[in-house]
Amino acid sequence: MTVAISVENLGKTYASGVTALKGISLQVRQGDFFALLGPNGAGKSTFIGILSTLVTKTRGAVQIFGRDVDSHVYQTKLDLGVVPQEINFSQFERVGDIVMTQAGYYGLPSRLAAQRSEKYLRQLGLWDKRGQRSRTLSGGMKRRMMIARALVHEPRLLILDEPTAGVDIELRRSMWDFLLEINRAGTTIVLTTHYLEEAEQLCRNIAIIDEGRIVENTSMRKLLLELDSYAFILDAAADLPGDLAHEEPGLCLRKLDSRSIEVTLSKGRDLNGALAILDRRGVRIISMRNKTNRLEQLFLARLGGQEAGAGEEGS
Ligand code: ADP
Repeated sequence: MTVAISVENLGKTYASGVTALKGISLQVRQGDFFALLGPNGAGKSTFIGILSTLVTKTRGAVQIFGRDVDSHVYQTKLDLGVVPQEINFSQFERVGDIVMTQAGYYGLPSRLAAQRSEKYLRQLGLWDKRGQRSRTLSGGMKRRMMIARALVHEPRLLILDEPTAGVDIELRRSMWDFLLEINRAGTTIVLTTHYLEEAEQLCRNIAIIDEGRIVENTSMRKLLLELDSYAFILDAAADLPGDLAHEEPGLCLRKLDSRSIEVTLSKGRDLNGALAILDRRGVRIISMRNKTNRLEQLFLARLGGQEAGAGEEGS
């Protein structure tokens, strides 16, 4: 297996005293489409900042394509294309100039720079905007321009921090298609997101990060299989009997308080079974709702497990 990213015991404490990463170890294979998923403040941007040499780590080791990033800064920069979360280009420069300047920064001869700029601006639907000042672009166009800029030196590894934050659904899909295409063509892609759906659409492997720790690192397929259960909250018309708990394969009933019940069902089971049990116990249900969306469900499950077993790390 060729490894694109290898991270060992990575830690970061900011000068403010905040410990954003508490000892992360992770590998991303060459050719992978990898998601780093986690709630706000989890440490995703810090992680990406360290990979892209913009943030200095406090401890640990990072290798990109087998090279230590600290001792191979130049090669790391050539291997990497980074699309940060914040807009970080001059709002007054023209779109085409921004991409060309980046190509120059990587030392591309001017003809090649012009060819590549055209190629990626066209692919991202921005070629006809090349003469416009960047501040006139919509939010989604600015983000696409940052992708074009990150690709102009054709890096082997593309890292995107929340690429579709604030991008409308139609545009998000075309961005997904574009990213899938360049991944198929061989570029390793890592993205952060807090949309499970995005990770689900794009990624083969996933790590979930929370409060600076990896709480899960698995394939998307396995994760989704685990997630194939659904929880509902049912509200009863009157006070519930005390001994309502019920558990059988694929179906679990649990009393939450005097008038509400949580029902957990595995894929393939339906609510009728649960309602029949309640009916036999004389319980009348007057309303119901989904307990959580799938992402919340996932975080809750992972974070619950992690709290039970986690050892505290120093900074
Ligand atoms: P995410 O990208 O998952 O939202 P971040 O990596 O941005 O998470 O932040 C992780 C933690 O580090 C948060 O508590 C955040 O406030 C803190 N943090 C991020 N950047 C800085 C910084 N430059 N200085 C101090 N604290 C920071």
